[in-house]
Amino acid sequence: MKEQLESLRNEALEQVNSAEDLKSLQDLRVKYLGKKGPITEVLRGMGKLSKEERPVIGQLANEVREAIESAIKDKQEHLELEKIKAQLAEESIDVTLPGRPVQSANHHPLTAVIEEIEDLFIGLGFSIAEGPEVENDYYNFEALNLPKDHPARDMQDSFYITEEILLRTHTSPNQARVMEAHKGKGPVKIICPGKVYRRDTDDATHSHQFMQIEGLYVDKNVRLSDLKGILTVFAKEMFGEDRQIRLRPSYFPFTEPSVEMDISCFHCSGSGCSVCKKTGWIEILGAGMVHPHVLEMSGFDPKVYTGFAFGMGPERIAMLKYGINDIRHFYNNDVRFLKQFKRA
Ligand SMILES: [Zn+2]
Repeated sequence: MKEQLESLRNEALEQVNSAEDLKSLQDLRVKYLGKKGPITEVLRGMGKLSKEERPVIGQLANEVREAIESAIKDKQEHLELEKIKAQLAEESIDVTLPGRPVQSANHHPLTAVIEEIEDLFIGLGFSIAEGPEVENDYYNFEALNLPKDHPARDMQDSFYITEEILLRTHTSPNQARVMEAHKGKGPVKIICPGKVYRRDTDDATHSHQFMQIEGLYVDKNVRLSDLKGILTVFAKEMFGEDRQIRLRPSYFPFTEPSVEMDISCFHCSGSGCSVCKKTGWIEILGAGMVHPHVLEMSGFDPKVYTGFAFGMGPERIAMLKYGINDIRHFYNNDVRFLKQFKRA
């Protein structure tokens, strides 16, 4: 009987050990430990044994039962753990898969150019001044030496709200406002970026609404050579270190003398191409020394103070810089156009 129990233990432990799932483990429990199982049978037959044999076999039977129970318990824990592990593996997310790219926006090319120009002039000690787009006739024209009925007003026909209120035709009225606020005391060193409006018919190079950046520097002893120096820095910074500039006489009512600034062509370096219309030079902006009368109207003594002003169109700068052939691309906001200016 003793050998019977020993071999029963070995057989049961071996089977428990090789059980592959919880179901077959449960079957083994019933088979070996159940009411009709071999151990129960042994215990039932104890009566037939001698007094000496009884406790020895009884103790062994209990040991065998405990060994099988404990083996089943260990195996059950192991199988349950395996099951959880298998489930986790099945449900886990593969984090090594590439994600879907997030759609990101980029600056509008005009905004990018304006910010580049702003950064440049801030670096030269200018500050940014903004003003109203709906402006008084006084600031838009009169304070800039363009009295009513002045013929130069024809160059800047506007959209009128009333006789005296209009959409500004340039950002210069803001210069007059800032000078006025300084109450005759310099220095004034500002750039004024913003939207302006004119009654132009839209085509490849004209728009009824466009951007402008103007600069103004009023102080004691500001000279035309200072203007030339600042504009040279600007030209090299925006269009390349090799650029040269050229000033040509021009006319604006609010500056005297007035000049147009050209830069040497960045495309052909001066030999003549379609970008510079075979001249080797590209017109970039208008500038000049602030007219004494303009200084006076804004509260500055022209005997003490002088100043220079310049104005440019960021659209033109961006068109030249990026080779854009139609100003209307800036306003149509076609994503195929805008996407090309994504910065790396
Ligand atoms: Zn050229």
